[in-house]
Amino acid sequence: MANNIKEDLDPFDIAVKQLEKAAKVINLDKQALDILREPMHILTVRLPVRMDSGETKTFTGFRVHYNNARGPVKGGIRFHPQETISTVKALAAWMTWKTAIVDIPLGGAKGGIICDPKKLSVGELERLSRAYVRALGEYIGPEVDIPAPDVYTTPQIMAWMMDEYENIARKSAPGVITGKPLEIGGSLGRGDATARGGMFVLREAAKRKNIDLSKARVAIQGFGNAGQFAIKLVKELFNSKVVAISDTKGGILLESGIDYEKLLAHKNKTGSVVGFPGSKQITNEDLLELDVDVLIPAAIENQLTEANADKVRAKIILELANGPTTPGADEIFHKKGVILLPDFLANSGGVTVSYFEWTQNVSGYYWDIDEVYNRLDKKLTKATKEVLDASEKLKVDTRTAAYTISIKRVADAMKARGWY
Ligand code: GLU
Repeated sequence: MANNIKEDLDPFDIAVKQLEKAAKVINLDKQALDILREPMHILTVRLPVRMDSGETKTFTGFRVHYNNARGPVKGGIRFHPQETISTVKALAAWMTWKTAIVDIPLGGAKGGIICDPKKLSVGELERLSRAYVRALGEYIGPEVDIPAPDVYTTPQIMAWMMDEYENIARKSAPGVITGKPLEIGGSLGRGDATARGGMFVLREAAKRKNIDLSKARVAIQGFGNAGQFAIKLVKELFNSKVVAISDTKGGILLESGIDYEKLLAHKNKTGSVVGFPGSKQITNEDLLELDVDVLIPAAIENQLTEANADKVRAKIILELANGPTTPGADEIFHKKGVILLPDFLANSGGVTVSYFEWTQNVSGYYWDIDEVYNRLDKKLTKATKEVLDASEKLKVDTRTAAYTISIKRVADAMKARGWY
């Protein structure tokens, strides 16, 4: 990486910069912008947890309610050793734009606990999850704030959290959290919803730009929930060839294409994608610069920056991760004519099916899988068309175009409520 590049990589600074850029394009009212520049509420909690050793360890957690003009706030919880309030604020802002772009009646929130879940026992993880819910108290609820899974949080963690909430509330309240196991009110299709939604976005963009996905070579950064299902679905739905994938330990390149089932078996056996039979080992950085048609960042923030954007050769970037691209890199991609499908559109399938889960919970009527897929397809195809149309009409990059739609929807809701 070039050392002379000094980009501001603070996630919340980036989120505000993106917002301001789009606000200018639509000439957003100053008072509305002033509300949208900061979260409505920020809560920091300290969580004393009894460890298996008998000692108490105290963790720090956050929950940020960014904006609730369009409805109860919604967003995942991350368990991450490097969690910061700036990251949680940025992610809460992006959730606000995400629920608005798919036009679901929810606002944006995010939570995080500074911890390394890989170093916690199952019992410690359960006690930490329950402690977080007790600390949040009335800050969450089906009509207030509905959390969900994110980096290193799982359906099991959602189940403990729902159980703790119901114990405190002394009533059944499955709509307090989404991403739950099916047995206790989860929705069919939530497991692969982020990646599946991304596929509908990709399909629409490829159609618009005359790109044949059945001939596309794909590289995916990350093997979490999003990356893992992306490798499976891109082949299943379009017959594209995934030639590279990575996890935190490194990446692999296999020109003949990577088989999902075999890779999953290898990962389960060895703990990493690295060492997959027949593949060449590469780094996470190499992966981003491969000669592919579609690049899918599906890991963490700030992967595509001013330092490497020029070397990216993909024609389409589908951001399944939150915040993988910096504003500097955005400019470079726009100039190069790369079709960038921005995070809060590309990965909105997760929260969309979370919304379906919540509506099923509050109505008590559960849908079959076709209904989930059809409604997801409809929502994301419409949103993608709107973003691509706005980008052409306003002559701005796709991220800014998506922002103009979302911030207008949130600003209109604030206006209707008389907030400005
Ligand atoms: N954590 C996911 C996201 O960033 C899903 C949020 C949700 O389902 O509420 O979109």
